[in-house]
Amino acid sequence: MDQDVVVRFPPSPTGYLHIGGARTAIYNWLFAQKTGGKLILRIEDTDAERSTEASIQGIIESLKWLGITWDEGPNFQSHFIDEHRSAAQKLLASRHAYKCFCSKEELEHKRQRAMEQKGDVKYDGTCRQLTPERVVEKEADGMPYTIRMKVPEGKGSVCFEDIVYGRIEYKYKDIEDFVIVRSNGQPLYLLSNAVDDIRDKVTHVIRGQDGLSNAHRQILIYQALGAPVPQFAHMSLTLDPQKAKISKRRHGELVAVHFYKAHGFLPWALVNFLVLLGWATPESREIFSKEELIEAFSLKGINRANSIFDVRKNDPKYFTDPKAISINAHYLRHLPVDEIEPYVREELTKAGIWDAEYENTKRQWFLKTVELIRSRFHFTTDFATRGRAYFSDDYPIEPRALKKNIHKYPELKKWLPVLADRLFELQEFTVAAAEAIIRDMAAEFEIKPGVLINGIRTVVTGQLAGPGLFDVLVAVGQNRVADRLRKSVALFD
Ligand code: GLU
Repeated sequence: MDQDVVVRFPPSPTGYLHIGGARTAIYNWLFAQKTGGKLILRIEDTDAERSTEASIQGIIESLKWLGITWDEGPNFQSHFIDEHRSAAQKLLASRHAYKCFCSKEELEHKRQRAMEQKGDVKYDGTCRQLTPERVVEKEADGMPYTIRMKVPEGKGSVCFEDIVYGRIEYKYKDIEDFVIVRSNGQPLYLLSNAVDDIRDKVTHVIRGQDGLSNAHRQILIYQALGAPVPQFAHMSLTLDPQKAKISKRRHGELVAVHFYKAHGFLPWALVNFLVLLGWATPESREIFSKEELIEAFSLKGINRANSIFDVRKNDPKYFTDPKAISINAHYLRHLPVDEIEPYVREELTKAGIWDAEYENTKRQWFLKTVELIRSRFHFTTDFATRGRAYFSDDYPIEPRALKKNIHKYPELKKWLPVLADRLFELQEFTVAAAEAIIRDMAAEFEIKPGVLINGIRTVVTGQLAGPGLFDVLVAVGQNRVADRLRKSVALFD
């Protein structure tokens, strides 16, 4: 049975892919992977005014970067508008829908009155009663009309079992005869979306919770068109710590997938993190490889409660959820080095400090250095910022380090050049030899080893902290270390 699973991800291309949309895409993708089903990418571009080509490209790029693969598409909803219109004609012919000639003003007036009387504000069904002859007459008079669904009368209800939210029931009497085609002939989204799902034989509609209020109306369309109703799974919302829905309008770029890429997230780390939002993993586990995630994933495990995504707007250092950062750091530090190499390369290239020899004669050095310095990094961007001194002689000295480790100990101005000479004279520049020289020198001149070590670190790497200093020195290399220590006298002025 599982072989027939068809899911879809149908973004409206009115902006970038944000993390809420990405999470929905990921759940669809995981479900398709898990069941051996098919994932269709459908671009819901029928809102011509708000849809843009740049947004379509941006969404596709973000999906690809995340590693989400689809089996069909991108299909474009706008190519199927005639099909949506003929579905409406079919519904008219089978009397599941009717033409409504009520003008906007009339409808507004009725709504106002109903509101004043605290009555039922839904459409009162005036045109539902029109005889076929009256309809013909009104049309002949050139009166514009919308097409409305004729919601069944009586005691019945639309009832379905949402995989996440459980049983949902709407009584017919509470459902308005909703519009499916506007008076300008434009089908409404509710109709287009359902007709596309019917054509694509979608078996599971996995989407954001905002779709929950449409599901019962779409089910009426399915039923009226004689199509099997898919299963629905609505995902809880992603909120910020103030409990506001994550949205482009409110959070801007901070919630865009491309923002995470630009700030040094590894794609799989972001996928892993987003999956955890609102999904109770077995034994509260946090780190999953792709295979493990596919194995463990289940729609039933998704929480109804909304999840919180920590957007810390004003602190660039912690611009996002701490859990997201710790997951990213985990992958950055533990994936095989050659898997993160392309990302390091990208960052160094962006910073203008990539050396083609890192792939040739300096390859061993490069891989070893990446391995050493990544142990303290959180983002791929750290290689070009906090790790810059390993790849370039032009690197800044952190002001805090300068203050704490250099300016506070002016006596180092004398010792660091002496140390430079001693290190330079070493026959073999090894971790043990560098350590011995430094410790001997501290003893000989009665300098606290910590003071010397911190001073050297600041000069050689520009950083306050980092991996073990003697390893650092070997990674930076004998000549460069000696050179930097000699030139350090300038830092004391
Ligand atoms: N285009 C809709 C959206 O972006 C899709 C809703 C659905 O999955 O049915 O919200």
